Formats: sequence, structure tokens, C-alpha cells
Amino acid sequence: MLFSLLRRHWPQQQLARILAAMPSCCALCGQSGKRVICDGCSKCYFSDHPARCQQCANLLPQLDGSGPALCGNCLKQPRAFDATIVACDYTAPADQLILALKFGGQLALAPVFAQMLCEARLRQVSRVSVHPELPADLAAFLPDILTVVPLSAQRLRQRGFNQALEIAKPFARMLGLGLQHGLLLRQRDTLPQSQVPDLEQRRRNLRQAFAVPPAAVAQIRGRHIGVVDDVMTTGETLHALAKTLRRHGARRITNFVFARTP
Ligand SMILES: [Zn+2]
Ligand SMILES: [Zn+2]
Repeated sequence: MLFSLLRRHWPQQQLARILAAMPSCCALCGQSGKRVICDGCSKCYFSDHPARCQQCANLLPQLDGSGPALCGNCLKQPRAFDATIVACDYTAPADQLILALKFGGQLALAPVFAQMLCEARLRQVSRVSVHPELPADLAAFLPDILTVVPLSAQRLRQRGFNQALEIAKPFARMLGLGLQHGLLLRQRDTLPQSQVPDLEQRRRNLRQAFAVPPAAVAQIRGRHIGVVDDVMTTGETLHALAKTLRRHGARRITNFVFARTP
């Protein structure tokens, strides 16, 4: 509450400076220090990096990455996006951190998620053998432009911010990429995907959920688009969004998502 009040009335950079100077404590163990997540907790909870499907970031059966690059689901059922990079699984304690950002307004977590995503991208670059025939941006998972999964206008009003955009802002700065959060609109309020258990219902829920405003069309055609989000559950939302980008001529789509439901 206090934080959202401060946010509304202080210029964001000034607020960030004030918060950075304040003594804080680890969001997970409460130990005091300057880091949002202390070194001990980072090591304990976020140092395991199993092999993941290159397309949807599902865990692969051969955890050392010696098996195929795609999971069974992606082989059976083509996805509209080309690659997905995630920082961690959506399990404890990452789930608590996401709830703290999303519903607790703890925006200081967003740059931490962005940093973890940057590290995940670097790990993926080193994991994927660089094919000489592949353009460098594909091998390095570097899109031409970043965008975010949009919230509907109604949900944005309720929450006051889009958590995906809060992660995307520092992430774009870290990668030196442009961020264009108006590439896509959420046309109608869909049910949260976590509340729709059945796959067919999920698809129906998402049908025509996204649209590209006319002013953004020129920015999509022929480009590699990076889509940032906080959580990926089945990937249906990102699939629907990627289909919309494809229809407008996107050359390639890479998702950058903090946590993936295993
Ligand atoms: Zn800690
Ligand atoms: Zn997959």
C-alpha cells in the first residue's frame, strides 16, 4: 500500500535510488543486506539449471541435455513461437516471489527476475551449438525488439501495473534492446489460464484475445520479436500471442519467461 502510494507520487528513478539506499532484507529468508535475494538463497534455490526444451522450456528427460532439443509435446504439436528461455521452475519459492510481485506490489523483485533471465539466456547460448548457417541473433537468442504479454485494460486498472512490463523494462536495459509494450493489445478479459483446467477450454478462452494496433504493424513484419512474461503454465497464452504476431509477419518469436510450471 505504502509502496504503491510512493510510486504514484515520486518519479520512478528517484524512488529507485531511495529504495536502493535503504537497508533491506532478503525476500526469502529475511536476512538483512543490500540484495533482494541473498547469495545463500540464490545458491540454495536457483543454482540448478536442468536441460529444457528449446521451444517451450519444458524439462527434458535427459537432464544433462544429451537428448533431443525438443520435448515430446513440441514434436507432436507445433507451437507458433520458436524458442522459450526461462529462469526457473514455477515451484516454491519462485511461486511466492511471483505472488509478492504480482499481488504484493513488490516491484523491487522485477529487476532480480530480469537479471536471472539474462543469465538463463547466456546459459542457453552456451548450450546451443552455434550453427554457422544460423544468423547470429538466433544463436544468441537476441530479438530485434522486446514486447510483453499485455493485460486487459480492466485488469491493468485493478492491479495498477503489468508485472511482465516491470520485468521487461530492466531486462531490455540489460540486453540493450528496445522495448515496445504497445505491440499487442488484450482485446478482452480472459479467465486466468490457471483457472481453466481443460486444454480445449483454454484455447477457447484465448481465441481472439490479442490484437495488433494498426500503428504497431510495421514494427512486427520481418522482425525477431522477444515476448516477456512472468509465468508460463501450458504455453497456450504465449502460443495464441505468437500466432497473432505471426499473422502480422513476425520472422521469429522468442519467449523470455521468469518461471515455468514443470
Ligand atoms: Zn536469503
Ligand atoms: Zn517443448
